[in-house]
Amino acid sequence: MTNKTEHPGMGTTAVWGGEKGPFWERSTQVPVVSSVSFGYTDMEKWMAVGQGRAPGHIYSRNTNPTVRVFEDKVRLLEGAESAVSFASGMAAISNVLFCLLSPGDRMVSIKDSYGGTNRLFTEFMPRFNIDVALCDTTDHDKIEASVAAGCRLLYLESPTNPTLKVVDIERLVRVAHSHNAVVVVDNTFATPINQQPLSLGADLVLHSATKFLGGHADVLGGVVCGGKDLVDRIYHFREITGAALEPTAAYQLLRSLKTLHLRVRAQNQNALAIATFLDGHPEVEAVFYPGLKNGEGHEIAVQQMSGFGGVLSFQVKGGMQRVKKLLPLLKYAHRAANLGAVETIAGPPAMTSHVECTAEERAAMGIPESLIRYSVGIEDVDDLITDLDQALEQTVGS
Ligand SMILES: *Cc1c(COP(=O)(O)O)cnc(C)c1O
Repeated sequence: MTNKTEHPGMGTTAVWGGEKGPFWERSTQVPVVSSVSFGYTDMEKWMAVGQGRAPGHIYSRNTNPTVRVFEDKVRLLEGAESAVSFASGMAAISNVLFCLLSPGDRMVSIKDSYGGTNRLFTEFMPRFNIDVALCDTTDHDKIEASVAAGCRLLYLESPTNPTLKVVDIERLVRVAHSHNAVVVVDNTFATPINQQPLSLGADLVLHSATKFLGGHADVLGGVVCGGKDLVDRIYHFREITGAALEPTAAYQLLRSLKTLHLRVRAQNQNALAIATFLDGHPEVEAVFYPGLKNGEGHEIAVQQMSGFGGVLSFQVKGGMQRVKKLLPLLKYAHRAANLGAVETIAGPPAMTSHVECTAEERAAMGIPESLIRYSVGIEDVDDLITDLDQALEQTVGS
């Protein structure tokens, strides 16, 4: 009983986590504090807060009360010591990399990372003389060998975007730590409900909060969680470089997080049912979803995830020509570049996550041009299956 109160479940943490209060005028909800600065008439107090000796806030690029509650809630969901938030997921990722790496350093990652992240690796890191070794995502031996060749940082994402490959986080953390490398995991696709990389040994876990944490496709944000020393360094980099989260965005994210467990569990169930349906459909060439028993990475996913997530992708017979006919026929999907929302969202990676890459680069990353990424919402699953079925039927032979 006592144990239970000390370690509340994910649902309880999503609802109550970080909301210490008391808040302004006894409001039960976290107020949006949009003030840029915080005033003091007591000079000693001001000095103490400014120097970090007393709790409080000075200026909202550094810290803000609404933003702080958001950071605390995600920190608790990820089981972390510290957290720092950002204006977007890419701000979180670029701040982590540019804060922790210096010219001459070498880092290792996988070929299937998010398109924007991949751009950082191929376009910007080399300009700062940071050597990025990109390995085939599921070739664990190759990743281990590349880490063993010496690196300061190992950057992982699992499941990956858009082909839902799974990497064995615990295994790769072992080799990274034996070579003193920091392990960073992008947990955007899994969410803390399905996977907690810190408990698998990772040093930092980060999110595009724009996706499942926000869940309503109406707010941008990012967050990084981990041990205090590392997060303090990243916080300091952010307070100087300035990609801070807006207080209003933090409030929207806080409101969204209260239903994270409900949304993600519904999305897990829907996605598994849809992946199974598509897997058995004669007009579908391939389905990518870690929850499928015959799927690549399923065994690792069972070990490190408690649910398989709300995103899947599939390839239809007939290639890009058919994709162009099929997508407009869907009744219940936004055709857009986003994922993790309560509404279903469908689109080809060539126009969404990997639009920054050329066709050749996508091919090299193993992303077929005719792939459809399908981010499952919280609609009734029978309606989504009927919808996909009619679109497939109407495009037979095209
Ligand atoms: C969307 C996304 C990002 C980038 O996040 P933004 O909030 O759009 O900057 C990073 N990683 C993954 C896995 C994503 O899906």
